[in-house]
Amino acid sequence: MKKWEWLRVERRNRLIDLHGGKCVACGYNNINVLHFHHIGPKGFSLGISQMHRDYEAVLQESLKCILVCPRCHEEEHQKLKRIDAEITQTLLDKKSLNEERKDGNK
Ligand SMILES: [Zn+2]
Ligand SMILES: [Zn+2]
Repeated sequence: MKKWEWLRVERRNRLIDLHGGKCVACGYNNINVLHFHHIGPKGFSLGISQMHRDYEAVLQESLKCILVCPRCHEEEHQKLKRIDAEITQTLLDKKSLNEERKDGNK
């Protein structure tokens, strides 16, 4: 591995350490596979490729994230997808309701 790659890995590991070093959902603590999952507005992802950014920016970004393992991360995203789908469905329902109402006014 090149030196700059090591620096990125080191920085990422430090960040993970600051966040407790384990998955908030299940406690899995293999820091090599843990992900940052955004719960706040996402500026940029916190993958290894972003670790060259200004440390302060990376730190601030990490405050909008929770630490999760790949499995919980996937589950979290599926949950989010489901919620998204529900919201979309609700909006569609409302839309069709509105259209019906419009039709009723004719
Ligand atoms: Zn987990
Ligand atoms: Zn995520």
